Amino acid sequence: MIIAKTIQCPNCKNTLVIKGIPGEKIHVTCPKCGNRGVFVFPDDENDPRIMNDYPIIEVKNLTKRYNGSKAVDNISFKINQGEIFGFLGPNGAGKTTTIKSILGLVNINAGEIKINGFDIKKHAKEAKKFVGYLPEKVAFYNNLTALQNLNFYAEMKNVPRTECKQLIEEFMLSDSLNKKLGKFSKGMTQRLGMARAILGNPSILILDEPSGGLDPRGVVLVRDKIFELKNRGATIFISSHILSEIQAVCDRVGIINKGVLVAEDTVDELSKKLNLKPKITVTLDKISDEIVEAVRKVKGVDKIEIQEKNIEIICDSKTKAKVIVAVATAGGNIINLYTQEPSLEEVFMRYTEA
Ligand code: ATP
Repeated sequence: MIIAKTIQCPNCKNTLVIKGIPGEKIHVTCPKCGNRGVFVFPDDENDPRIMNDYPIIEVKNLTKRYNGSKAVDNISFKINQGEIFGFLGPNGAGKTTTIKSILGLVNINAGEIKINGFDIKKHAKEAKKFVGYLPEKVAFYNNLTALQNLNFYAEMKNVPRTECKQLIEEFMLSDSLNKKLGKFSKGMTQRLGMARAILGNPSILILDEPSGGLDPRGVVLVRDKIFELKNRGATIFISSHILSEIQAVCDRVGIINKGVLVAEDTVDELSKKLNLKPKITVTLDKISDEIVEAVRKVKGVDKIEIQEKNIEIICDSKTKAKVIVAVATAGGNIINLYTQEPSLEEVFMRYTEA
C-alpha cells in the first residue's frame, strides 16, 4: 500500500510530497534548495493520505515558431507533483518542440514556463536542477565506453560514480560495460540513455519517446523504472507514439495536433467526452433469435453484432450487468465473457482526425 505524505524541508520550508510504503526509508532531496535528508514512513497504515495538486511543470500560453510557422501554438497545461503525464500527437505535431521549450533548449516566441516554481528563462539553473531528460535522439561519446560515458555525466550531475555501474546492471547492459558506444545498437543506446536520465534519482523526469528502438524486455524495464520513480514521488512527463504504453502508465494525457493542445484529461474522462463506450463480447454455446432480441431490448445497448458464437455489444458501463442477466434469462449458456474498455487509440484517432 503506497502512501503519500506532505513534509516540509527543514532548510527552506518548501513543502514537498513523497510517496512510499509504511516503514520505508526514503532519501529526499528538496527540489528548491537541494537539501538532502532521510524520511521514514510511519508504520501506521491509518496515517492520513494526503493527495496533492502542486504543479511541478507549468506551461502558459507557449508559442514557438520556426521560420515564421508555428510549431507550437499558444498551449497551456500543468503537471502536478507525483503525476505521470503522457504527451501524444501525430508526427510533426509539436511534442519535441514543447519538450525542448520546457527545458529551455529552444528560444520560445511567447509564453511562460516554470519548473518547480522557477521560470525556465530567468532561473534556468534552479529550474533544471532536479530534471532528468531522455532526448528523442539519444547521443553519447562514441569513443568512450558505457561506464566512461555514464561516469562523465555522473560527474557533471555531481552524483556518486557508484550509481553508474548499478544503473548499467539494472538496464541489463553489464556485458557491455566496457564496450565503446560506437559499437552499441540503437536499443542498447536507448537503455543507456534511460540510465543517464535517471542518474541521481531526479524528482522530475522528461522522456521523449522512451520506448524508441527498445525490445519488449527493454520496454518492460523502462515501464518498471517509471513506476518505481513515481512511487518515490517523481513527476514524469512522457511523449510517446506507443499508446498502449501511455495508457498503462499515465495518470493524465495531453494530445497535441498541429501545434494546438486539443485535449487534456484522464483517458476515462476523454472517452466520456467523446461518448466512447465499452464493448462486451459474450461467447455462448448456441445463439438464438430470442437471446439476441432480449439483448436488443435492454435500455442502454447501442449496437449488437453477431460473430459466429459471439455477441458483441456496445453499451454504457452501467448496462453491462443488465446485458448478462438478459442473455441468461433468455436461456443463453455463457461460455466466455470479456469487456474491452475504450482505448486510448480511439481517443487519439478522434482528437487528431482533422
Ligand atoms: P514526431 O512525432 O515526428 O517526433 P513532434 O510532434 O515531436 O514529431 P516536432 O519535432 O516538435 O514534432 O516538430 C513540430 C514542427 O516543427 C514540425 O512541422 C517540424 O517540421 C518543425 N520543426 C521542428 N524542429 C525544427 C527546426 N529545428 N527547424 C525548423 N522546423 C522545425
